[in-house]
Amino acid sequence: MARFSGERGLIPAHEFFVGIDSDGCVFNTMEVKQKQCFAPCFIKHFNLHQIASIARETWEFVNLYASSRGCSRFEALSRTIALLKRRIDRSLYSDLLPDIEPLRQWMGKQKIVSAASLKACLDMYPDIFLQRVYSWSLAVDACISRTVRFVPPFALAIESLEFMRGRADVVVVSQTPHEALVREWDTHGLTGYVQSIAGQEGGTKSEQLYKAVRDRYPEGHMLMIGDAPGDLEAAKSIGALFFPIIPGKETQSWELLYHEALGRFFSGCYAGTYEQELVQAFSTLLPDNPPWEV
Ligand SMILES: [Mg+2]
Repeated sequence: MARFSGERGLIPAHEFFVGIDSDGCVFNTMEVKQKQCFAPCFIKHFNLHQIASIARETWEFVNLYASSRGCSRFEALSRTIALLKRRIDRSLYSDLLPDIEPLRQWMGKQKIVSAASLKACLDMYPDIFLQRVYSWSLAVDACISRTVRFVPPFALAIESLEFMRGRADVVVVSQTPHEALVREWDTHGLTGYVQSIAGQEGGTKSEQLYKAVRDRYPEGHMLMIGDAPGDLEAAKSIGALFFPIIPGKETQSWELLYHEALGRFFSGCYAGTYEQELVQAFSTLLPDNPPWEV
């Protein structure tokens, strides 16, 4: 089995590498996390009760139905507030939405954008808005650990991991906190299928992938499986191939992966027209702009 060795990255045990996203890819957890935990905590912690329905709709657009799906929670917060500012009647709710500049500045300066790095920043430079962001992030984690239990992997996800076992070094690549990822993969007995599990503490998905592969696998031998444009972008940043788990058609996607695409990947027949057609169909699915601005 390959080992993950800190800064030296993954020590390959196989000729192939597979990076795999978790939320919305292996687990059907996007809707429950976003609708039952992230959005309600957003409304509560930023006192948006007066505009609760459009705050919820905007949050869900950014995190489920837009090209930003799967981005870090801090990026999502910044995007959602910026969209809401353009959406609400500013004459009625002029003081309702906070200035997101401190959040943008903090994100711009961080090597690692995570709750832990936000806490470290607050310990040195207290800021009322960023403190609220941190409290919101903690509340989201607590809500997820209470709410998201026993959401099983999509059908054929385990069979696909089994198929990869012995053929590829497999790594989880995610923006979810590491602790929650380990809990979710462990609950379903999946940790034995992967060499390492990287969460938001490991940097962006591109950084996580780069650390894992470091030019150690030949061209055409690296694959990223994900459900968001950010997963595709991360794959391309290291020259990996991409297989999309299509939001809303996850079951069909896993069927295609298990019965056809994985076999093609391991036999060198995945790159080219086959991948391009899948990526093209996926790329047109999630828009950049919300329907109310079009
Ligand atoms: Mg995802």
